[in-house]
Amino acid sequence: NSFVLVSPDISICKDCLQELFNHQNRRYHYPFINCTNCGPRFTIIKDIPYDRKKTTMRVFKMCPQCQSEYDNLEDRRYHAQPNACADCGPKVFLYQQKRKLAIVDPIAEAIRLLKDGQIGAIKGLGGFHLACDATNNKAVLKLRHLKNREAKPFALMSLNIEKINQYCEIGKEEKEWLEDRARPIVLLKKKKNSLISLFVAPNNDHLGAMLPYTPLHYLLLKDNFLALVMTSGNFRDEPIICNNQEALEKLDKIADFFLLYNRDIFNRCDDSV
Ligand SMILES: [Zn+2]
Ligand SMILES: [Zn+2]
Repeated sequence: NSFVLVSPDISICKDCLQELFNHQNRRYHYPFINCTNCGPRFTIIKDIPYDRKKTTMRVFKMCPQCQSEYDNLEDRRYHAQPNACADCGPKVFLYQQKRKLAIVDPIAEAIRLLKDGQIGAIKGLGGFHLACDATNNKAVLKLRHLKNREAKPFALMSLNIEKINQYCEIGKEEKEWLEDRARPIVLLKKKKNSLISLFVAPNNDHLGAMLPYTPLHYLLLKDNFLALVMTSGNFRDEPIICNNQEALEKLDKIADFFLLYNRDIFNRCDDSV
């Protein structure tokens, strides 16, 4: 448990986001796209100096193309320690009933299941989220019941400011907080008669919302959902769940499916409010 001083993980940058949704780009829809300006740092580092060999990326050997970006001083990915692509980097998997499904597009399937009102455990940067469609009363109530949370508000995640503005008032300052690259959960005044389920924050005139920060979040939210409930998968007074096996066991009673990936989290980290 040595003390590690390294910059925190930063939300995906504009360039990577543009590449993520560009059909021509070799990282099109690759959920672990990153560069020196964004991506995981703190949550994957095991020791200093911050170097790929000392992170949970060490098991992924870069393909020649990724390696040449990594070595090129002119490249945006020069010495980007978590540099990866679909050929050489981490992959996502969908689990149901503790079994890994053999499907081509686990993210598309996760979206389908969420739209169907199911609850997903989704691996994030520093831990796991429990997610469901925030406009689906039945799903939100089920999550509330299973998480044993009588009335404590659930946090929401939406694709962009416009989406959040459909259900909350956003002032200038709040917009800045939302767009901060640390992606805090910001408390906002609810709008009346929005589509968000009343069970997200019962008897409360505020909602906690955040913008996506990983490529995986963007892939889930783009063209889908007004908002997803994204509540921490952790139990009170227990350490943050951070590995796949632990998640599959501990969240088994709550999650209908698991969207996992094979890059390990080394340092646990929860969302900040
Ligand atoms: Zn980037
Ligand atoms: Zn590669």
